[in-house]
Formats: sequence, structure tokens, C-alpha cells
Amino acid sequence: MDDLYREHILEHYKYPSNKGVLESPTISHEETNPLCGDRVRIDLLIDNDVIQDIRFSGEGCAISMASASMLTEEIKGRTVAAAKAFSKEDLLALIGIPLDKNPARLKCALLSLKTLKAGLYGVGIGTLRDDEV
Ligand code: ZN
Repeated sequence: MDDLYREHILEHYKYPSNKGVLESPTISHEETNPLCGDRVRIDLLIDNDVIQDIRFSGEGCAISMASASMLTEEIKGRTVAAAKAFSKEDLLALIGIPLDKNPARLKCALLSLKTLKAGLYGVGIGTLRDDEV
């Protein structure tokens, strides 16, 4: 792993953005990645079709937590439609390390995005295919 990228991930892991819970979220959704033991909950406050506020909580490896931190920074202030359109590729570009040859780490990285999408669509994670994330 490239040192620069690793540092970027560790920074988000140590000093995450938007970590915590919302008092009265419009949507609150939690998913787990049993392969690694990661657990992510995402709380959304939606008003006028815009994600006014977002928090994540949970625990897991550095990649899963850093990914959630980066994702919440990106999603805050977007419309629901824009959040739904945020793709796996968009998230991987933010994370900045090549994970396509490492399926286990890829699941860690995508957990927060899957949790967000499952919450927005109001469905369980099992019904989302990888290419729908
Ligand atoms: Zn993990």
C-alpha cells in the first residue's frame, strides 16, 4: 500500500468526520460486514430532499471507518438523488488505494456506501447487488 494513501486513511480513522449519531434522524440504517467484523450505522437528516446532516457510528477496521468518514463528508449537503447516484467508483476514488484485486478489503471499503444506499432505498443490504452500489 502506498504510504501517502495509507496516511490519508489513518488520518480519517484517527480523526473521523461526522462520527456520532443524530438525535432524530429521518433515516437510520445499520449493516455489518461479517468477513471482517465491521459494523456501520448511518444516520441521515433529510429535509426538502437534501441531506442536511449525516453521522456515522460503529466499529471496524481502518478502511471501513475511514471510508465512512470520507463518504459522509461527500454526501452531506447533497440531494437524495445525488447521494443515490454516488457510485462505488466515486468512493474508491476518494479512498485512493487500489482495492480491485483485494475483494476482502473492498467489502470493508464499500460497507459504508452499501449502508447509505440500503438506508436511502429502504431495503436490506442483501437485496443490493454489488453493481447497484
Ligand atoms: Zn474491515
